[in-house]
Amino acid sequence: MIEAQALSKRYGGTVAVDALSFAVKPGQVTGFLGPNGAGKSTTMRMIVGLDHPTAGTATVNGRPYRAHPDPLRQAGALLDARSVHKGRTARAHLLALAQTHGIPASRVDEVLGLVGLESVAHRRAGGFSLGMGQRLGIAAALLGDPAVVILDEPVNGLDPNGVLWIRTLLKQLAAEGRTVLVSSHLMSEMAVTAEHLVIVGRGRLLADTTVAELIERVGVGTVVVRTPEATALRDALTAIGAVVTGVEAGLLHVGAATAERIGDVARAAGVVLHELTPRRASLEEAYMELTRSEVEYR
Ligand code: ADP
Repeated sequence: MIEAQALSKRYGGTVAVDALSFAVKPGQVTGFLGPNGAGKSTTMRMIVGLDHPTAGTATVNGRPYRAHPDPLRQAGALLDARSVHKGRTARAHLLALAQTHGIPASRVDEVLGLVGLESVAHRRAGGFSLGMGQRLGIAAALLGDPAVVILDEPVNGLDPNGVLWIRTLLKQLAAEGRTVLVSSHLMSEMAVTAEHLVIVGRGRLLADTTVAELIERVGVGTVVVRTPEATALRDALTAIGAVVTGVEAGLLHVGAATAERIGDVARAAGVVLHELTPRRASLEEAYMELTRSEVEYR
């Protein structure tokens, strides 16, 4: 469980995070979504005590992260995949981390296997590709077998296989009952990965919702209808209270009526249909709309 209570962070005159309050529950993947510069990384750093809030609190499993005697077992985080000692091998990097936190060496080999880095365990991390670095960062985050997993833009630099692997891993971690918070600036990615969404823009909370709810909210779309008898169909649809726009070239955009209803009306009016396509506003469009005015122009 992660809880942010009126969390705020200012850097001089810049407001990075503005009175954010949200909770991240166990057993599901929570997507932390927002345009670049929205304050996601800053929030994540404050959750694990790498940054001090200007106001408000962040707790992990009921306490500030730093107040736990066994922090790596409480939460593991991937915040900056480049923050490894470049001269060390992947295994040595993890081993050093394990030793300072009382974690057995056997766990190092376990997580190396989990992220698919066994074959390069003895290579220097400095020579790793971005994707391998991400995997090493995830191995470090999982080292303490933590109840809470926090990953900042984990798919950055991964190839399509890697992206698929991350999705599966995140779902598996959630299914094991862990709290999983993962940030992204891409709605398309979060739509297939997360169940719960915390959406931010310019440091402020824009939505705290489920993917299902968001689909429901943006679900009132239109139906595209193509017919050689556009005028007759428009009249018949208008008569039942549907909203019809754009009659040109035999193409109608119909609102306030389902595709089924439109089909029935067309049949009753003896009108032939060549196309009947429900169009729902996509999650991506809903997200763009939500964050339009909040995008940080840098
Ligand atoms: P995101 O992770 O959503 O891309 P960040 O948390 O990195 O956003 O940044 C939020 C805002 O805070 C940005 O405007 C960024 O420039 C600013 N910011 C982040 N870190 C610092 C810092 N160390 N010093 C000054 N400004 C910062």
